[in-house]
Parts: sequence; structure tokens; C-alpha cells
Amino acid sequence: MPANLRRTKIIATLGPATESEEMLVKLITAGVDVVRLNMAHAKHDWTRMIIRRIRAASKIAGREVAIMMDIKGPEIRTGDLEVPIELKPGEIFDFTVKPGGERDAEIRSVDVNYRDLVNDIKVGDTVLVDSGLIRLEVLSKDDAHIRCRVLTPGSLTSRRHINLPGVKVNLPSFTQKDRGDTLVGIEEGVDFIALSFVREGHDVDLLRLFLKENGSRARIIAKIEDQSAIDNLDDIIRATDVLMVARGDLGIEVPLQELPVIQRRAVRLCLSIGRPVIIATHMLESMISQPMPSRAEITDVANAVYEQADCVMLSGETTIGKYPLECVSILDTISRRVEEEQAADFPEPAVFIQERMKVFRAAVVLANEFPRSLIVVFTRHGTNAAGIAAHRPPRAPILAITDSPETLRHLKIVRSVEPFLLAPFGDPEATIERATASLLKLGRITPGDKLVIVSDVQAKDRRIDSIQLRTVE
Ligand code: PEP
Repeated sequence: MPANLRRTKIIATLGPATESEEMLVKLITAGVDVVRLNMAHAKHDWTRMIIRRIRAASKIAGREVAIMMDIKGPEIRTGDLEVPIELKPGEIFDFTVKPGGERDAEIRSVDVNYRDLVNDIKVGDTVLVDSGLIRLEVLSKDDAHIRCRVLTPGSLTSRRHINLPGVKVNLPSFTQKDRGDTLVGIEEGVDFIALSFVREGHDVDLLRLFLKENGSRARIIAKIEDQSAIDNLDDIIRATDVLMVARGDLGIEVPLQELPVIQRRAVRLCLSIGRPVIIATHMLESMISQPMPSRAEITDVANAVYEQADCVMLSGETTIGKYPLECVSILDTISRRVEEEQAADFPEPAVFIQERMKVFRAAVVLANEFPRSLIVVFTRHGTNAAGIAAHRPPRAPILAITDSPETLRHLKIVRSVEPFLLAPFGDPEATIERATASLLKLGRITPGDKLVIVSDVQAKDRRIDSIQLRTVE
């Protein structure tokens, strides 16, 4: 296998630690494939500025990266507090849903940004605040207050995220804020929109319609973060372009022992229909403050690579962490080592029902026959490249030749695919020759290599998929 291919793609979230042009160039050079903007913390001016800076940094680094805009979706938060409230064990505490409404002088309280919470929640439900650090139980409710008892105490500060395990929240899936953010993303040409708290396939359909109405070809990433998403997993995976196992919120919303089971099930389901999948959050959490990962984190990253996920993602590690570049390098090192191990195994490629997927399977089987093989696929919209990647070739890299810069960036998220731009496509044979010459010049192929070429050829009045085997001269 050519040494410079890492199959598993790396996503890094930008924040104060990484937003300078200098750090962006270093991140991209270190191997980041996709840069993520978390809109929960981003203003529009910053978003426009940073997208342009990423594109400039990518030019300086001489490597394309894709940009993911992560919109926050239906999120419940506590209101502003002048000073933090130190919640005590057993304390009775109110969440108020009518800002400025009546309050009980004896009971401390905080506002919540969602009025209908009183209708969605039941007595006995659990309320988790600030990533589950503070836990309360609902004792009673009226139309303005939810009265709780503090089970796990902690310091409550302003605008903390609230999780409600098992509660079906009736907030719209694509909020007014999401629309505004997405329009900025469309104007600036982001490649992916990640939708938070997707609860069913229909949520994805709504975003897809919005993108279409606004002339965007951005791909959709559905983030699964609560029990409703797990109940509708199959439906969501079919509706979306890419799935993200967003373990931060998911790990709070479902019983903790379910998390690895859900991760494995989600990855398997994605693999079974050829949907790219991202494993996100807490991959190298301890490296926010320390230069080395914990042994458990090393194993967690390796596990995602063994599961054959398409991407691993960094959040706090690269937004506020002290060692963002080291985190990228560690993900790179672990991925390459596990992939090398996987290349020694030759499992049968998956079987898909579509005719075209059977052709791709045949290409992978053929590539497996030769130790120095590479799959070269010509792909306009990325479908053929992603279709081959879905078969998870164990050893041959997939060199995807496209005439579209947009497709090139969309393929940055797909495991095993190394995209190259060659524009325009012309006569099939001449295009193959130009691609081969360019790959030779880049050192991506060398004389003696076997190329399994997947392209379409003209047969009388129509184009048909073809597989060719050629040796590089
Ligand atoms: C997560 O919860 O794991 C996640 C990626 O989402 P966010 O960072 O938006 O909370």
C-alpha cells in the first residue's frame, strides 16, 4: 500500500486554540481532512471570516480540506445568571419557563429557553445540566415552573445545556437560528451541514429541502444524540448522506452501557448500506490538558478504526486544547497502525443489491489479487468512489479522479478515498492517460503497479460501467 494513504479521515473542530491562519496551515499539513465549525458558539461575522481563512490556509498548505458547519438544532439551555448558583444535594430548585414570571422567594431558580418544557416533561423524569454534571429529579410542575430536587450537586453557571433522557421533546428539528446559520454556510460554500439532535428521517428531509430551495449541494450529516434517534436509526441512516455518532450528548441521553453497543450497531448499519459514518467526541479528551492520551483513549480510537468508521473527530481537543497538533498526529499514527493490521486480512467484500455495486465489488475482488494494486475511479459526483469505498478494500487505496472541486471536498469524508482534480474530463481513453500521467508525476503510482480502473465507456448510444486492469509503464 502506498505509504501516504491514511484510510480513516480526521475531522478537527476549530476554536480559539486553532483559528489563526498559522495554526490552520499546521493542522491541514498535519493531516486534517475536514474542518468543523460548531455554530453553537459561532457568530456570523466570525463564520464568514474563518471559512475564507480556511480556504486560504488550505492553499498555503497545498492540501484541500472540506468544511463542515455543525448547526445546533433543537437545544434546551438555562438562562443567564449574574453569579453561579452552587446547588446543594437535596435542595429544591425551580426551572422557570416564563422569563420574568412569578418566583417563590424561598426557592432558587433559573430560566429555561423552552416554554413547552412543562408539557413535555413528567413528574419523576431526570433533568441533566451541563453535560450531565448536575442531576435533578422532577417533583412537580405547573404552567410556569418545573420543581426539582437536586440529586447530584454542582455549580450552575449561565446558558448551560439541558439533557432530558428518554423525554420526547417537541422542539422543531430545524430552528430559526439553524436557518440563519445554514444560509451563511450556503453563501460561503461549506461542504457539509451537520444537523444536531436528528430524531427521525423526516428531520433530514426538511434540511435537504431547505438546501435544495437555496441552491446548495452541501451534503447532510445527521448527528444521532438521543433515544429517539436510536429508535429511528435505520430511517435516519437511509435519509442522510453521512451519519455522526455524537457520543457527547448520546452518552448522557442513553444509559452509559448502551453507548458502545449503539456505536457498533450504527457503524454496522452504515456499512451495510454504504453510508459514511463519523465517530465523534472524547476521542482524546485527556489531551485537552495533557500531551499524551490515556491508554483507554488509544484503544477507543483504535476501536473506531477496527470498526471501519470513515472518520474520527476532535472537538475540545482542537478548540481549546493545549495540544491540538499532537492530537491530530496521534489519531494519524493509531489509524495507520490499525489499518496496516487490517490490510493483512482479506474478508469478503460486502454484497449490495444494486447492479452497479456488484461491479464495484468485482473491482475490489480484482484489486485483492495483486499486492501492488490501486483502484483508480473516475467520478463526477463522487457516487462511484463512495460506492467502491463501501466495499472497504483492505489494501488497495482508492484514487478518485474528479472534474469537480466540490466533489473532491465531499470525498474528503469517505474512508480510503484519496481524491484528485482533473478537469475537464474528455474522451475516456485520453482522460485515463492524463490521469495516469498526473498520478505518476505526483508519485502516487509507480511503474509496475497494477491499476484497477473503474470508469464508464461509450457503447453505441449509452455509457456503461467498466473495469480495466492495466500495469503502469
Ligand atoms: C456530541 O454531542 O458528541 C457532538 C458532537 O455535538 P456537540 O459538540 O454539538 O454537542
